[in-house]
Amino acid sequence: MKISMMKKLTVSLVFALLAVPAVSSAQTFFRFPASQLGDQCGNGGCVVSAYKDYGGRDYACGGVRYSGHTGIDYALVGGFSKMDYGVWAMNAASGVIESSVDGYFDRCNYWDQGNPYAACGLYTANYIIMRHADGTKTKYWHLKAYTQQFARNTSLSCAYWIARVGSSGASTGPHLHFEYWVPNYGIDDPYAGPCGTPYTRWTSQGAYRGLPGIACQ
Ligand SMILES: [Zn+2]
Repeated sequence: MKISMMKKLTVSLVFALLAVPAVSSAQTFFRFPASQLGDQCGNGGCVVSAYKDYGGRDYACGGVRYSGHTGIDYALVGGFSKMDYGVWAMNAASGVIESSVDGYFDRCNYWDQGNPYAACGLYTANYIIMRHADGTKTKYWHLKAYTQQFARNTSLSCAYWIARVGSSGASTGPHLHFEYWVPNYGIDDPYAGPCGTPYTRWTSQGAYRGLPGIACQ
């Protein structure tokens, strides 16, 4: 009798522990990671060219992805001339600049898969990685050379102009590759949908193929 009571208690304790929500109140949520001013990504200046790939589908079960794609690509409408005009990537939430790379060629229009250390290879992107209060990270890839505004270890509140969108590294045209990373899990997707994850990490996810909102958490 006593043992079965103990077992019951143990079982209910386990359930109680499992019932604790995985999402804490300290969870970081993101705004759209670029400027939405009228001459920037506003007025249709940027479009989603690829979502994260879920083995042939995007989070919404559509086909806006390519094989093995780990983040979201926001492309500049107007290509290199819009890039030369200048479009600002912005940090999607408050955090610290954990790492950054700069100085690589930023007008790539092809990707040399066979020679990843060449200009326009896999390992020649200019980028910024930010770490947020909940331990998650956001990554801003393919940045325009010598436009980064802050040094490593700088703490920023949400929505600073951190660098201009470019086409460095494995990139076929000017776009921001935005990636979301979770401790003890790895690369995740900020979008929620029927073929993706159940929880959005955007303050306002927006419509499919539209852009997320610009409200900071
Ligand atoms: Zn990408």
